[in-house]
Amino acid sequence: MKKKENLKREKTILLIFLGIFLFLVVPILGVVAFYPKFHIQEFQNKVQVNANDSFQPMSGKVCYGNLFSCKEVEYETKGEVDTQKIGEYEITYIYQHQGKELSKTQIVQVVDLEGPSLEIIEGEYYYCPNGNVPNYEVTSYDNLDKDVSSLVKKEGKDGKIIFSVVDSSGNETKKEVDAIEKDEEAPSLTLNGEETIYLKVNETYQEQGATATDNCDGDLTSQIVISGEVNTSTPGEYQVQYSITDQKGNQTSKTRKVFVYANNNYGTPNGKSIYLTFDDGPGPYTSKLLDILKKYQVPATFFVTDQGLTKGYDSIILRAYQEGHTIGLHSSSHSYGIYTNETTYFNDLYAIQEKVKRITGETSQIIRFPGGSSNTVSKSYDGGSKIMSQLTKAVEAKGFRYFDWNVSSGDAGETTSTSKVVTNVIQGLNGSTSMVLQHDIKSFSVDAVEAIIQYGLSHGYTFRKITMDTPTVHHHVNN
Ligand code: ZN
Repeated sequence: MKKKENLKREKTILLIFLGIFLFLVVPILGVVAFYPKFHIQEFQNKVQVNANDSFQPMSGKVCYGNLFSCKEVEYETKGEVDTQKIGEYEITYIYQHQGKELSKTQIVQVVDLEGPSLEIIEGEYYYCPNGNVPNYEVTSYDNLDKDVSSLVKKEGKDGKIIFSVVDSSGNETKKEVDAIEKDEEAPSLTLNGEETIYLKVNETYQEQGATATDNCDGDLTSQIVISGEVNTSTPGEYQVQYSITDQKGNQTSKTRKVFVYANNNYGTPNGKSIYLTFDDGPGPYTSKLLDILKKYQVPATFFVTDQGLTKGYDSIILRAYQEGHTIGLHSSSHSYGIYTNETTYFNDLYAIQEKVKRITGETSQIIRFPGGSSNTVSKSYDGGSKIMSQLTKAVEAKGFRYFDWNVSSGDAGETTSTSKVVTNVIQGLNGSTSMVLQHDIKSFSVDAVEAIIQYGLSHGYTFRKITMDTPTVHHHVNN
């Protein structure tokens, strides 16, 4: 009996549940299934985008409808994502339905997980014993920071160079190449100021120092060793040595020459004068010649030309002028064709006079005839008109003064030996006006000048430059 009653109760409970299901759950499910909604297929509430990648709003099917039928619809989006900037952005998808706005919002995270690229050229690599790496070309580019080549760090050790670079988001890229440890390069050493210095007796020598850099050790200026003494109370040549050694023992040395000189004695009363004159320049050795003249404070006279090799030395003419030498006129072309007639001669003379004036600002009237006033080569050009006899008078009439020479160095053909030039000049000196002819376009002749000066100064001569007042030295005119 009891069992029967229990069975009956269970049936009743089952019926009640069935009732609830049929009358409550089914309608609710039905409503849910048929109720129209705004759908986006595979919608994610939160998405991540890599920096610099492009972001596209949802592209899946977007529709309005229920579980059984959904009509694709047009929709708009609101909000922007700047993939060049790390951060969180919101994109809202909006569908306008019967005056109502239906929407879904999505969080878009822009993240940077990508390290910069690192491009290393293939080749042989070296690094210094202290780990410093030469300036090898490496390029590095980051999706966000763009060109980061300048941020690449390099370190050499254990037979490798490690290149590394970190972007602003902390992403690191590393690359290694096989490399050899070595330092065979000596430091570079640069003297401050002139390498040759001229000081008058008792002038103060001021050490200007030098700078040094090394491929491995960097700036080594503070470690330069300077040695050598300059005694400015005694004329002579002094040397100051500069030396720098890098950590590996590679050494570089340089020398500065300091010339201490006594003044040329302008006041010599006995008339023993030497006029050093140089024809046919300027040229490649004139600057060296000017250094020597400067060292001894000896003035000279340059009879300049404007042809062939002498072109391009305008600055040397200016230097000679500024250092107190006389710039005389030799010839513009230095061609004997100038002796064809007076016009051809003066056209050539005025051309060089113009050039010198353009450089120095001074109109020079001190001249020397090519071949000297005694030349006979002019006979081949003048058609028998005795051109030298005309010109020697004509130039003086026009206010010029011409100078020949009475001491021949032999450098025009007789010899190419420096010591022979010295001997020729010394033997040619006379007790009054010694007018020496040399050519500064000849290296061996320029090399003779220092010994000539030393001889002259130590034998009571005074070196002078030609001026408009200098005693005349003229040859016999032969044509
Ligand atoms: Zn000449």
